[in-house]
Amino acid sequence: LTSKLKDPSLLHAAGLIDGKWLGAWNSATYEVKNPATGKVLAKMPLMRADETRAAVAAASAMFPQWKALTAKERAAYLRRWHDLILQHSDDIATIMTLECGKPLGEAKAEIVGGAASVEWFAEEGRRITGDVLETVGRDRRMLVIKQPVGVVAAITPWNFPMSMITRKIAPALAAGCTVVLKPAELTPLTAVALAELADRAGIPDGVINMVMGDAPSIGTEMVANEVVRKIGFTGSTAVGKLLMQGAASTVKRVSLELGGNAPLIVFGDADLELAAKGAVMSALRNAGQTCICANRVFVHSSIYDKFSEMVTDRVNKLKIGDGLEAGVTMGPLISKPGLDKVIAHVADAVSKGAQIMSGGKTPGLAAPYDAGTFFEPTVLKGASIDMRCFSEETFGPLLPLFKFDTDDEVVMMANKTEYGLAAYFYTKDLARAWRIAEELEYGMIGLNEVAMTSEVAPFGGVKQSGLGREQSKYGLAEFLDIKYICMGLG
Ligand code: ADP
Repeated sequence: LTSKLKDPSLLHAAGLIDGKWLGAWNSATYEVKNPATGKVLAKMPLMRADETRAAVAAASAMFPQWKALTAKERAAYLRRWHDLILQHSDDIATIMTLECGKPLGEAKAEIVGGAASVEWFAEEGRRITGDVLETVGRDRRMLVIKQPVGVVAAITPWNFPMSMITRKIAPALAAGCTVVLKPAELTPLTAVALAELADRAGIPDGVINMVMGDAPSIGTEMVANEVVRKIGFTGSTAVGKLLMQGAASTVKRVSLELGGNAPLIVFGDADLELAAKGAVMSALRNAGQTCICANRVFVHSSIYDKFSEMVTDRVNKLKIGDGLEAGVTMGPLISKPGLDKVIAHVADAVSKGAQIMSGGKTPGLAAPYDAGTFFEPTVLKGASIDMRCFSEETFGPLLPLFKFDTDDEVVMMANKTEYGLAAYFYTKDLARAWRIAEELEYGMIGLNEVAMTSEVAPFGGVKQSGLGREQSKYGLAEFLDIKYICMGLG
């Protein structure tokens, strides 16, 4: 791995506690593998509760000092971190593609977006403001100030090894909080490179700490430790529920960004080219492994056959393979269980009458990629609501096409899920646009657009897709406590 990097010193096979790169206390390790080949990339420390406690203690010890800086001073650190990330974006992209499989172009786009969060929160941290309230009595004045919540624990997934980290750490640091990060076990190397660059940016020891290894043990300590005042989590709904339960014991704040089951609706009046392009991009981005990927595509009956062909033509042009290779547009799935789930969803749909228009199987690549967890991008026609791909998040390269007739029917189907993260629809009708946008029970709506994520806009869901928002001024507020000061004038 290091031979592929311009700057191999970006990597450490270690966690970071109080500015020191450390192995697990008991020297235990686990292997990180390249999902395209199954080859071992690194042996990382298998840390547990003890190391987590030490990391929390380091973050806690540093909190008063970090909090006492001015927002402008903290912004200068974040700005230097941002610049270093961009300077090393080629290496970070290589590391990311190797450990999570996404094509290099997608890795670079993630780095640009992740760095944008760092820059934006550096700026926004300087605009944290309180209030002076109109007093209720001449004998007093009434004020509101904002203060950092304290030590933050951040737990992130493997599908966006960088941007899920920056959208938590950047606002935390901008607000004056210190952090203990637990990156996903499958993708710790991108996180290590980011932490190394934070160190080079001069961010003081103990402000960003990082542990990795035994997730349940680390997570249990994070939620039980009363010094931790907030958990920021992106991952599965099951783990999110566990963390929320655990956080109740010490009444911590939680921000949860959990699963999705995004609908993408194509109305009869839509721009079909735009919609076909959007559907393919949204459903198959990162091989379908994003929480906002279109999971169910609903197409009006008047255009169903035509649209199915347009989507199939586009999918047939995708190139599957090693994300480091030029021209490859789709990489492997992250793991065998991930692959098994897609295979099961396709088999289930076919057994219930769906037709495979494209893909539908593992691609049979030559060595060393025969050991990779690849699946062909797959279009299914004739999908119906009794299929697993309707009710479950596939998290793989599957694009099932459902048919509908009326607006009410499609809204009902789109909302028929416990999730509520992102939804997309295509129409040119203004009245319909408003009505459907209001009726869809989702935290984010893409209207004639699927690429809607941005550092300036609130990201998050309703229902069992989560709590709170990341990015934007709303995301910064999650790291601030409100303090009311009533000042008696005697
Ligand atoms: P995914 O399906 O995306 O892997 P997970 O929820 O399993 O979703 O993983 C997201 C993050 O949550 C990862 O960093 C993982 O290590 C972590 N995680 C998994 N189990 C626990 C747990 N019991 N406590 C805390 N974190 C956990």
